[in-house]
Amino acid sequence: MSGRKPETRLAARLKRRIAADGPITVADFMNACLSDPEDGYYMMAEPFGAGGDFITAPEVSQLFGELIGAWLVHVWRLSGSPPHFHLVEPGPGRGTLMADALRVARLDSDFMKAAHLTLVETSPRLREKQAETLAKAPLKPQFASHLGEIADNAPLFLVANEFFDALPIHQHILTGDGWRERMVGLDDAGELCFGIGPASLASPDVPAAARNAAPGAVLETQPLSNAIATSIGERIATRGGAALVIDYGYLRSAPGDTLQAIYRHEFDPVLVRPGEADLTAHVNFEALGHAFRSAGAQVGGPMTQGDFLIGLGLLERAGQLGAGKPAHVQERIRADVERLAGPDAMGTLFKVLAVTKQGLSPPPFDT
Ligand code: SAH
Repeated sequence: MSGRKPETRLAARLKRRIAADGPITVADFMNACLSDPEDGYYMMAEPFGAGGDFITAPEVSQLFGELIGAWLVHVWRLSGSPPHFHLVEPGPGRGTLMADALRVARLDSDFMKAAHLTLVETSPRLREKQAETLAKAPLKPQFASHLGEIADNAPLFLVANEFFDALPIHQHILTGDGWRERMVGLDDAGELCFGIGPASLASPDVPAAARNAAPGAVLETQPLSNAIATSIGERIATRGGAALVIDYGYLRSAPGDTLQAIYRHEFDPVLVRPGEADLTAHVNFEALGHAFRSAGAQVGGPMTQGDFLIGLGLLERAGQLGAGKPAHVQERIRADVERLAGPDAMGTLFKVLAVTKQGLSPPPFDT
């Protein structure tokens, strides 16, 4: 049809699948869009950076990963400097955060000797990119497809930046018949459309803030995120270690449709470009915190990314980085700091949560 965007390869495949087998859940749709082995977004696109679809904090400035590197070394020491531990990053993107973190961490040779680095990444293309970024790093990464592949035999120190927002969520819609699962099906013209499926949400899964919602309200649940948080929490509670979760999200479970597609730095309709647009959902920090705590771990925060970075000395480090440099470089560093920590940029929307063994309160969560 003239004027219509050509459909993506994944859209054509999903339509055939739905025509044959019926509507799929929003979680299945998200999973296909991001992780389909042939046509998923992270399998084929080069998503990050100015030429991609979005820019993440480690791609804004080296200061981000460097501060996290310093945090990891500090918390490892607070934990009694265990002689063997797993250093793990799920969803490492281009590998920039870990490269910057290791540049600082390598100053502590005991930390480096004790660390075994594993990157959890499902995309072969991104694994290649990460290995390339870390080619000169002091630790050679191992790769895993999920956390369960990492032996549970030592403390876990983990950092997850913009990882949980990429995990599939389910959506439920309030109908006259209670909360029912939102599905992706086909309209009369054979195009992808949202619909309502038969599955209903059990009342214990409906948070208090959703009890008086109006018909048509959307409620999201995130069983995969919760399961991953539980497994991280259990390891930290029993073996020790710490995790930092950094992401954009909301603090209290409440109704709201947060599923969003981004294509070349602009919002895009969710169903229009499967596999070619990035697809994410805001992270439910209340649910995530609950999963970590139920697993026996201690949770610090969430605090805003701005407070976290400034609490770790962002301004001082930016000053050191700019000292003696030409004015235009100092100006760029100032702009990067504003972007990472400013309230109108990433500083307030992004939240940071720290997970530790009981009794360990790392800075800047300790005040
Ligand atoms: N942390 C990086 C990239 C964030 S994008 C940064 O800050 O720049 C999300 C990352 O999660 C990508 O590397 C993507 O391939 C990975 N990812 C998405 N779903 C995943 C899954 N189920 N398991 C492991 N990695 C996943």
